[in-house]
Amino acid sequence: MVETQLIPRGIKDKRVIEAMLKVPRHLFVREQDLYRAYDDMALPIGEGQTISQPYMVAKMTELLELKGDEKVLEVGTGSGYQAAVLGELAREVYSVERIESLARRAQEIIKKLGYDNVHIFTGDGSLGLQEHAPFDRIIVTAASPEVPKPLREQLSEGGILVAPVGSRFSQQLVRLCKRGNRFEEDYSTLCVFVPLIGAYGWED
Ligand code: SAM
Repeated sequence: MVETQLIPRGIKDKRVIEAMLKVPRHLFVREQDLYRAYDDMALPIGEGQTISQPYMVAKMTELLELKGDEKVLEVGTGSGYQAAVLGELAREVYSVERIESLARRAQEIIKKLGYDNVHIFTGDGSLGLQEHAPFDRIIVTAASPEVPKPLREQLSEGGILVAPVGSRFSQQLVRLCKRGNRFEEDYSTLCVFVPLIGAYGWED
């Protein structure tokens, strides 16, 4: 997966490549999907949700420019795979999932793999996680019409936020860098994520 899909598509950050080599994606997919666990595609994980495509996980992680000492917020735990990748690369990871059964399953796998620095919460992640803010990095793995205001507010000075923003059916990755009172904003890869459902996302 790493050699045939991620590196040829432009993933360069060595730490991201090592993390993608290390985290066992097959443990995060359903038994019936084991045979395609390392294909470069999103896969169903139940509850109408998906584990993201490996390229998208690597790309978004690379855009976060993690050095190892960051406190990261992930919105949309899903299977817990992205959280595990972040757990390899950052100091602390706080991940929020709105569907309790998914959060519970992700928590079990994360615990089994020994990621003591990954903390999973159930709730509306579009509100962020005020009690643990500010965050050096924020990654949103569900699509919203714009970056939720509470997430902008919970980003620390010099922090980076990456999110898929656009319509319900097609988005673009946006990266915000907080510099004083303003945000530097740039758009990159086209993508399709499941919707962010919540106070600052779409209606259920
Ligand atoms: N990062 C995940 C992984 O590695 O498996 C993939 C995430 S999946 C594409 C998007 C997830 O966001 C779904 O599990 C969905 O339930 C969750 N979600 C949607 N709206 C949410 C919200 N407001 N707060 C938290 N999670 C949300």
